[in-house]
Amino acid sequence: MSQWRPDSWRSKPILQQPVYEDQQQLAAVESKLSKYPPLVFAEETRELYRQLGEVSQGKGFLLQGGDCAESFSEFNAPKIRDTFKVLLQMAIVLTFAGRCPVTKVARMAGQYAKPRSANLETIDDISLPSYRGDIINSFEFTEAARRPDPNRMVEAYHHSAATLNLLRAFAQGGLADLHQVSRWNMAFVENNPLKERYHDMATRIQDTLAFMDVIGINSTTSATLHETSLFTSHEALLLNYEQALTRIDTLSGKPYNCSAHMLWIGERTRQLDHAHIEFFRGLHNPIGVKVGPTMQEDELIKLIDALNPENDPGRLTLITRMGADTLADNLPRLLRRVKAEGRHVVWSSDPMHGNTFKASSGYKTRNFDAILSEIKQFFAAHDAEGTHAGGIHLEMTGQHVTECTGGAYQISDDDLKQAYKTQCDPRLNADQVLEMAFLVADHLRQ
Ligand code: PEP
Ligand code: MN
Repeated sequence: MSQWRPDSWRSKPILQQPVYEDQQQLAAVESKLSKYPPLVFAEETRELYRQLGEVSQGKGFLLQGGDCAESFSEFNAPKIRDTFKVLLQMAIVLTFAGRCPVTKVARMAGQYAKPRSANLETIDDISLPSYRGDIINSFEFTEAARRPDPNRMVEAYHHSAATLNLLRAFAQGGLADLHQVSRWNMAFVENNPLKERYHDMATRIQDTLAFMDVIGINSTTSATLHETSLFTSHEALLLNYEQALTRIDTLSGKPYNCSAHMLWIGERTRQLDHAHIEFFRGLHNPIGVKVGPTMQEDELIKLIDALNPENDPGRLTLITRMGADTLADNLPRLLRRVKAEGRHVVWSSDPMHGNTFKASSGYKTRNFDAILSEIKQFFAAHDAEGTHAGGIHLEMTGQHVTECTGGAYQISDDDLKQAYKTQCDPRLNADQVLEMAFLVADHLRQ
């Protein structure tokens, strides 16, 4: 195999990339970004790697979630805070009700590039290039807005930096304090049918903390109870940006992508001889790859070996997105083969991307029951094969959107228009996430 360099991907075939008109401008932006400070520190990334190593050995659970695509226009503190809260709320349910250590990875602070099924979008007989995420072009349906602009990479960097800054403040500055969390979550679930169940758990947490104080374990000053750790992740699709944020870590001397702690390769760009695999193989971050229903066993082993030749636990997370209808035909055979070949991976379920359809009202949606069904089947398949169901990967928001049908509030096709805000795929709202958290917790405990 030829030698890896941060730019060795450039000689490989590549899909899902924009075509920039001005190559000089592109080169200037890349050069500028390559001198900017890294967004994350390699030592943090190694901690995530270590935790995922535990998960791959069956000793923990990965919770990964956030928007399908972040956007520059919806960039504000309440939105970041609410998604942070809902992630934390879900993590608490999983930790307490599921009795399982949870590693939290936000799909935030960099989730700006989107693969698309078509290069063109047609509205009223006008065809324009598809929207590819705010790091590339703009959502607005005009020719100028849809033209890829390299300067958007610099904007995405600054948006990511500010988002990360707030997330770090929330995680360390007291918002994540377990004493607070069990309280603020009460208002958060006020109208949720699962309120009682949640309330019950919050009371048990409060009792435990009070008990610890009584017996002399000071729960008000303990960093474990006062702070939380939250890692960031995104699909590393736009390799010009990802290369510019890749640095040699001074402590280890190894290349790390410092745009996020964890990066993943999408279902559409994971061809073995293509650029994304080449770029990822040289990074020392923990990485993910999406695995859809067409994946064959031999192909998966080759993919695993290309991305994790040392078979290092924690390095590779396989994010399966099979679809509720086809999971039973496709996941067990992959679990069996990977287990038989002794490869260490984290198996995580993305129950979103295999269950997308167009509602009769015209909106792109997902049904809550199908999402739950994929998760249940994911757990059942792992139980049957004796492998560890290690995580879940969700598209979700802390805001009260109506983008996925079903759930305790029975959102119908007709209700979708009430608060359909996503620029890309439909997300679970805060209530739907909480409902899911209890379900997953029940499985974790079994
Ligand atoms: C995504 O996670 O938003 C995505 C595009 O997923 P996939 O690559 O699985 O289609
Ligand atoms: Mn998506």
